[in-house]
Parts: sequence; C-alpha cells; structure tokens
Amino acid sequence: MKTSARAVVIGGGVVGASVLYHLAKIGWTDVLLIEKSELTSGSTWHAAGGMHTFNGEANISRLQKYTIDLYREIEALSGQSCSLHPNGGLMLAATQGELDSLKLICSRARYLGMETEMLSVAEAQEFNPLIDASHFIGALWRADGGHCDPSGTTHAYAKAARQLGAAVERFTHVLSLAQRRDGTWDVVTDKGTVHAEHVVNCAGLWAREVGHMVGIELPVLAMEHHYLITEDVPELRGRDKEIVNTTDYSGEIYIRQERGGVLIGTYEPHGIVWSPVKTPDDFAMQLLPEDFERLAPYFEVGFEHFPALGRVGIRKAVNGPFTFAPDGNPLVGPVRGLRNYWVACAVMAGFSQGGGIGLVLSRWMAEGDPGQDILSMDVARFGAFATPKYTSIKVPENYARRFRLAYPNEELPAARPVRRSPIYDKLLAAGAVMGANFGLEHALWFGPPGVAPSETPTYRRSEAFPIVRAECQAVRANVGLYETTNYGKYEVTGRGARGWLDRVFASRIPKPGRLGLAPMLNPAGRIVGDLSIACLGDDRFLIVGSGFAEEFHLRWFASTEPPPDVFVRSAASALCGVSIAGPRSRELLQRLVRIDLSAAAFKLFDVRETAVGFAPAILTRAGFTGELGFEIWTTPDYFASLYDDLREAGRELGLTLFGGRALSSLRLEKGYGSFNKDFRPDFTPGETGLDRFVAFDKPAFIGREAALAERAAGPKRRFVVMEVAAVDAEVIGYESIMKDGRAVGYVTSGAYGHCIDKSLAAGYVPIALARDGERFEIDILGNSCAATVRLAPLYDPQGLRLRG
Ligand SMILES: Cc1cc2nc3c(=O)[nH]c(=O)nc-3n(C[C@H](O)[C@H](O)[C@H](O)COP(=O)(O)OP(=O)(O)OC[C@H]3O[C@@H](n4cnc5c(N)ncnc54)[C@H](O)[C@@H]3O)c2cc1C
Repeated sequence: MKTSARAVVIGGGVVGASVLYHLAKIGWTDVLLIEKSELTSGSTWHAAGGMHTFNGEANISRLQKYTIDLYREIEALSGQSCSLHPNGGLMLAATQGELDSLKLICSRARYLGMETEMLSVAEAQEFNPLIDASHFIGALWRADGGHCDPSGTTHAYAKAARQLGAAVERFTHVLSLAQRRDGTWDVVTDKGTVHAEHVVNCAGLWAREVGHMVGIELPVLAMEHHYLITEDVPELRGRDKEIVNTTDYSGEIYIRQERGGVLIGTYEPHGIVWSPVKTPDDFAMQLLPEDFERLAPYFEVGFEHFPALGRVGIRKAVNGPFTFAPDGNPLVGPVRGLRNYWVACAVMAGFSQGGGIGLVLSRWMAEGDPGQDILSMDVARFGAFATPKYTSIKVPENYARRFRLAYPNEELPAARPVRRSPIYDKLLAAGAVMGANFGLEHALWFGPPGVAPSETPTYRRSEAFPIVRAECQAVRANVGLYETTNYGKYEVTGRGARGWLDRVFASRIPKPGRLGLAPMLNPAGRIVGDLSIACLGDDRFLIVGSGFAEEFHLRWFASTEPPPDVFVRSAASALCGVSIAGPRSRELLQRLVRIDLSAAAFKLFDVRETAVGFAPAILTRAGFTGELGFEIWTTPDYFASLYDDLREAGRELGLTLFGGRALSSLRLEKGYGSFNKDFRPDFTPGETGLDRFVAFDKPAFIGREAALAERAAGPKRRFVVMEVAAVDAEVIGYESIMKDGRAVGYVTSGAYGHCIDKSLAAGYVPIALARDGERFEIDILGNSCAATVRLAPLYDPQGLRLRG
C-alpha cells in the first residue's frame, strides 16, 4: 500500500469510486481509495440501480443529468460495462396536486435542457402497459433516466480512475484519523498508516463513524428499504423494449423491468431506522431480514395499481439499508473547523447523484470552489441544530415522504419546535402559523381571530392569500412588526476587524454609527453572501444575513483565516430581533426611545445603541419592506419585554404582526432579491445588480479581479422582476422563462404583490432582453402566462417612503 497520497478517499461504494475518478480526472492522480471490504460492499451492491434527473433543486437536477450522461464516458475509459438501460422515466399523478407538481417539473425542465412531456394516462400506458389507468389522472414522461448495474458502474468508475493513475486498496480498514500540525492527516489503517494532505469521508453506511474519528456528528442515518423482483410477467412477453421506469406517487411505489419480470419497491410511511447508534464494523454485503408482514399492505397498493404484478410470484426480495440526511439531499463539502477534511455522504440516490457529487467535490478540493451553486447539498446547510435526536426524527419523516410531493406552502411537522425565540408562545397566541428555518421557528402569517392557523398544502393560492394580503396592506398603510430573530447574525470585534472586513466584503465598510449593504464574493467573483454590516464602534461590527446560510457563512469566514486580532462569532442565539415597518413606525418607536428619530437626526442606515423601552438594544434604520422602518436587536433575556413594549406602544397606532409570506411579497414589490433564492453562488455582482454596492476602487478584496473583469466585459444576464398574468397560482422557482418558444432564463422566486395587485416573478434573463417592457412567457402549472419585465420597482420607485 502507498504510504502517502495527496488525498485518501475512505469508502469504495459508488460515491467514493466517483470521487476517486473525478479527483484523478482533474489532475490529482496521487490519490488512494481505501475500502475495508470489497468495492460496493456497503449499500451500493444491492441497490436497484434506478437513475433519474428529478430533484426540487435545478442545480442538483443538472448534476443528476451529468451523472447519467457520464456512464458512457467511464464505460469507454474503463472497458467495464455499466449495463445501462436508458429507458427514461414516467411519473404518475393520481391527484390534482400531484398533477400540478408534474406540470411544474415540466416547466422547469425546459431551461435545464431536459426532454419532458405531459401525457394522458392512455399515452403513459404505451410506455408501461402494466398501469391500471383507473388510478391515475395524468403523467409526465422524461427521456433521461433508466437503470444501471450498481456493481458494474462502481467498478467502471474505479477502473477508469486507475487508468488515470489513482490507486485502490481493498480489504483495508481505516481505524482512525490524526491531524498533524500542518493540517495533513495520518490515516491509520489495519495495514499501516498513510500520510495524506486531504481525506474524504465517502463511508456511506459508516459515514457517521468516520465523522466520529474527527469529533463531528454528521446528520446522517440509515433506513431499511425493501424491493421485490417478480417472476416473469406474461404481459411483457414479446415486447421489443423494456417498460419505462415508473414512479407512482400516490401508491409510493416505483417499478422497473428486470429481465422478464419487474422490480417493485416501496417507501412505506413507517420506515425502520437501521443501526440507530452505531453501524456494525463487520457488516458487508449482507441483506437484512425481510419483513413482509409489515410491508404487505404497501406492496398490495402496487399490485392494485399494476395488477399484472399481483398475478405472478415473487422471485427475490431485498431488504437493505442506505443513508439519508434529514432533508434527503446529500452532505457534500468541507466541514468548518476541520482543515482538509471533506465529506460526500448521505447519498440516497447514488446512481443519479454520484457522478455530479464527484465532479463538484473534486473541483472544490482542487480549485477551492465547487464551480457552481450547490447550497442544497452543501453539508453546511445543517448547523448545530441537527443533533442526533433531530436526525433520528427527520430522516424517517423524509423517508416516509420520499414519494410525496413537497408543496411550496407546506411546513413539515417532525422535530418541531427545536429552536424557539423568547416570543414564540406570544406569537402562537397571536395566531402565528410557523415555519422552521435552520431549526428556528418563525412566523409565516397570522390567522386573525376566528380563523384556524393552518393551511391546505397546494401549488395554488391558499386560504392564507387574503390574510397575507391584509398583513401587507397594514404595513404599507400603517405599521407592522416582523420578528427577525431567524436572520443570521455575527459579531466581528478586535483591532483588526475593519481590515479583515475590508478584505472579505466587496463593499465599503461603514463608519461608526452607520450600516452598509455588503455583498461578499468568492475568488471567481460570484455571490457567496448578501449581508449588511453595522458599525457599532471602531472595532465592533454586527453583520446580518440569511439565517439559512449561518453555517455556510461561518465556514466562509473561517476559510478567509481571520488574523489573531479579529474575533468572529455567531450571534444566532445571542441576539433576537424585530423589524418595525410602515409609515407610522417612527411614531411608534419614538414612544420608546429617548434619541431623536426624526428624518434629519436618524437617517436611513444610521445605527445607534440605545434603550428601547426596557431593552438595551442596537437600533438600525433599515428593513426589507421598502417602507420607513427600523430593526431592533437585543439579547434574549430582554426580548419578550421589548416585544411587549412595542405591542403596547403600537396598540393605538394599529400595529399589525406580519410574517415571512408578507415579507416575500413586500420585498418583491420593491424588486429586492433575497440570498438563497435570487442571489446564490451561480451569480455575479453585475448579474444580480449588487454591483452598485461593490467598492471597485478598494485596493483589495476577495473576488476583485473577477468583479473588475465582469464590469469591463459587462454581465451576460440580469436579475429582473416581472409582472405575470397569472391566474390562480404564482411562480414557485426554477420555472423556465420562455421567449419565442425558447427557454432563455429561469425564475428564482415569486409572490403576489398585494399592494400593487400583480403576480410577480423574479429571475434571470439574457442582458439583451433585460429591458423594461420586454415580454416573456412562463408556464405556471400548465398555463402559459405572459410575463413583462419591470425594471423600476413596482412600488414607490423613487424610494421616497424608505427615506421618509
Ligand atoms: C434496497 C436499496 C435499493 C436502492 N435503490 C437505489 C436506486 O434504485 N437508485 C439509486 O440511485 N440508489 C439506490 N439505493 C441507494 C444507493 O444504494 C446509495 O445511494 C449508494 O449505495 C450510496 O453509496 P455510498 O458510496 O455513499 O455508500 P456505500 O455503498 O455504503 O459505501 C461506503 C463504503 O465505505 C466503506 N467503508 C466504510 N467505513 C470504512 C472504513 N472505516 N474503512 C474503509 N472503508 C470503509 C464500506 O465498506 C462501503 O463499501 C438503494 C439502496 C437500497 C438499500
């Protein structure tokens, strides 16, 4: 065995083999994969090998397509067949909600360049004659997808990697990892120690244990999963091609042809966690006992929906474990605080996603950047809140919902509430319907007295529509209160703080008493943050950004290696906040503070530390609604008193509570983009319009060269807000923006603008088409809707109210 390598990949399942191949391909040929048993011996060998391009996130869909297309490449390079069956895929809908979701997938697929088509059930039967039409109302067909041989595919990756110079060591157990002072690793195995610059945890069923080797608790858990292979099905005899792989959402069943028979699998509602505490070391190429008694009712549904399957016997049954993260997407990337330690685990669809994961991870390791936005599979989308208890509740929930379509207005109930702000109970008492962001409960909207605070999951306008409308109107007409505790908050202090911020942020760093909007770029000049910086003193700053991105931003800050005289820490649990917005917000707040809040004395983006009622607070004149507004930050122990004071002071002014839904509407009326939705690491300052906050004349900041180059060449596309002639549903995200029958861009977010009475969509279009009045079409749930670009904000275009 080699005694040193640039990178050691731990685990020879389909994911580890792909990572090895991609590292070698990118030029890191001195790489070693260590596998404790035979290749594929974790969850890979018994997989059903199904592959498809479906994912709620466009970039993951794109990486899934990359994975499927890659198989021909590794077959050619290795000479090893993947036994590809590129049959395509069918998705069957039994309810209007499912049909809506298929239409959304279809609308998204055009920009992704994927061939899809809505079909009638009769048309679907031509692709799969086993379907009993009486159970379904429509279908979606996709050209991409099918199935492959799990073992052949993994060996093809490994052989292709070897061709490029990589090494594979089988039957070698990684026992521990020890980091040297220079950040390199001693990988201790039962056959000796390998010194490696980097290690990658691709340990699949043992990813949790390989995490423990470095003291981290990855949110990953294995579930048992069953499929059956039937005896030959007479209805398939004599056909010249296989049936198309079929997913039956309402039946929670998937089927595909396996020789003359059919492979049928189910994601049952009460799944069984496998090895909840520790994965046995000696488990390899084993199956778990079948549990037909428990699963019979779920397979019965399959036999009803595909009756020919109920008429033949079962040739083989498989029950095997595989791993999931709490939201079902993989965990990929570097881990904060651990130099040169990478993860690529919790991959529940290894044959759809393994290739894409290898691609982005190899770029990240070799080039310092994944090369595209992969926020939704970044390990940093989970933080400290994802404890083993959280994971043990969320993973079974995700498993049970594997084939349930996620509605855009749906909040999943398991492991709630985890993090609660001090006013959680008060907001609930006021009728709040809660969502969870980074584990923290926050209000989405408030049911008025007599209205049940609950909502029917739908792709269309829900019963909350008029309620959110009233919240928006109250803010614009009067004054509203929104809790901002779920924003990401960071304190930066120390003598070197200003210098460090100046290097890390592309914007000018504000003077004491001022706040600045602050884009943050990666070296490639792409947006990794859209935050605000408040300067509280020469060496004291409060940074506020997206709550979802807290761990992502902390990891980013750490990667910039702050000097010893700079202290960066999360204030997520140290500060709570509220936003007071609307024309009467000043009047309200002036009742609680002694400082002069008049327009001349406390201007837009001014910052003061002052008492607000009982609470010592940081007060900023800022907000996200486009109205005159203030944000107030205080510590958790004062927060309930602050809230009570504000409610009391606002009583006779008609203070209204508003939630996240109203905020989404208000901000789009103003044309404000939001990080994670509209602004992500795929986009640049010029494309997002954040270039207006970039201080190009600063001598140095991360991403400066790329940002200057973009400024010189001009952006290729542009973030715009469009008015949409929608009927009863708004855009959700990733729908294609069509021009003359061609997909030219895609939607990043949408909302109904209640105060301007228009449906709004935000997204990116080519720069030449980013003109006021330019017309496009967007397919919303099967209706082609006219969309017209509005370059000026649709509400208060001069910003008079904000500055008022
Ligand atoms: C019944 C069933 C059906 C499935 N069907 C599909 C499907 O149709 N399509 C699809 O895409 N996915 C399917 N999957 C999921 C698929 O199997 C996984 O996505 C995939 O196998 C994950 O691969 P991996 O490389 O991450 O993990 P694993 O396959 O678990 O590989 C991890 C490897 O790491 C090795 N290892 C662990 N610890 C150490 C150590 N300390 N030292 C050395 N080596 C170590 C293990 O021995 C193992 O070989 C199915 C899974 C099951 C159980």
